[in-house]
Amino acid sequence: MKTFHCNCCSHLVFYENVRCERCESLLGYVPELSEISAFEDAGDGQWRSLHPKSDGALFRQCHNYAVENVCNWMIPAESPDQLCRACQLTLTIPNLSAPDNRVYWYRLEMAKRRLLYTLAELGLDVKSRQQDPEHGLAFEFLEDGGDGAKVLTGHDNGLITLNIAEADDAYREKVRTAMGEPYRTLLGHFRHETGHYYFSQLVEDNPRWIEPYRKLFGDETVDYGEALATHYRDGAPADWQTSYISAYATMHPWEDWAETWAHYMLIVDVLDTSTSYGLALLPEDPSEPTLNDRTPVEDASFDNLMKRWFPLTYVLNSLNRSLGMADAYPFTLATPVVDKLRFVHRVIAAAGDTSQPREAAAPAGGEAAPAPTPAPTPAPTPETAPVAAAESAPVADAPVVADAVPPVANEAPPQAPAPMPAPAPVENTAPPVEGAPVNDVPVANPAPVPAPTPAPAPAPIAPQ
Ligand SMILES: [Zn+2]
Ligand SMILES: [Zn+2]
Ligand SMILES: [Zn+2]
Repeated sequence: MKTFHCNCCSHLVFYENVRCERCESLLGYVPELSEISAFEDAGDGQWRSLHPKSDGALFRQCHNYAVENVCNWMIPAESPDQLCRACQLTLTIPNLSAPDNRVYWYRLEMAKRRLLYTLAELGLDVKSRQQDPEHGLAFEFLEDGGDGAKVLTGHDNGLITLNIAEADDAYREKVRTAMGEPYRTLLGHFRHETGHYYFSQLVEDNPRWIEPYRKLFGDETVDYGEALATHYRDGAPADWQTSYISAYATMHPWEDWAETWAHYMLIVDVLDTSTSYGLALLPEDPSEPTLNDRTPVEDASFDNLMKRWFPLTYVLNSLNRSLGMADAYPFTLATPVVDKLRFVHRVIAAAGDTSQPREAAAPAGGEAAPAPTPAPTPAPTPETAPVAAAESAPVADAPVVADAVPPVANEAPPQAPAPMPAPAPVENTAPPVEGAPVNDVPVANPAPVPAPTPAPAPAPIAPQ
């Protein structure tokens, strides 16, 4: 991610911030500019952007910013929308009467906004369900039911379901350990699930990509349910690291794609951030890896990205060890994995190049042919062991967390989520825990939005 500065006092500010730490200007993200802007109060709920690219335009805060404190995006003042582009994508939120759910909701939205930033930077189109009811992207954040009904994180035809327990650090770490995973993050879930979405958008029915995809990832038409059962019975092949980015990627070519896609996004975001900060590696021994190339990631070739990535991972892990923490980057990239990442890069580059005709979604004249739809199969994702009769229907008045999760202490009072070592304290980026409006059930977004209706009873979650 790029770095941002307060337009009022030039202080370094973060993507998640809502106030400048130094001059207390209101901050907000303007997706039209891909920039955090400082604002001055223009009265009547309107805010004048101080960003030089905005020409003093007026904005309003997203309802989920002004009222719910889970967002920091702005809306052009003349827009009829109450919710920003990011919040419009969320169809269902958790029951906010449960004490921790508001914090989980905040964390989910924060991860989702970072995902959206990277997608936009890569030139990938994100359409909401309002814009494209059939193929739009949408999210629902659900919690396990008190009757044992489990919410499976997954993707089904553009609808991404996240189990909000994944926003509970203790729960997520417990699952990560139980599953033997070296890496498990909320942001990683968002990246993985959107990988499934963009597979259906960019690859599945695209004659340019589908065969090269199969050569690298395998035949995605093999039965998903069987692959799943086999994976959870036998585990990953012992030598999986020679060909896959993760053990889970061995499960099925769909999952291999989604894992690889997620990893590509991770690399791009981290490199973008390090480049934006001007991070360089200039070792005394010139035979050691150096890093001084500052090509913007959106303009970089794949080889350029990889050349910069490897030295950076050494530093990431070394820094984390000095912090007494686990390796920040617990992965190895075997040559076949790099080849798959290169393929993801090519697909994204072609899709994101608006100067070229968009990759055809169907062969010429093929619009009459129905897209092949693999049989929908319940699709537990990396974090979910197979659970019989997986249901993701919203559940009313559910306990805050699943039975398997030990009680979690309430969040500390609003404080910085401290996503990174900050050059200055970051304030007021967490939502207030008190005074949450009471909703009996997971609801459509609380703002008076035109029509984000609650999601229809979800079908079993299929991975594509
Ligand atoms: Zn400032
Ligand atoms: Zn918003
Ligand atoms: Zn998946």
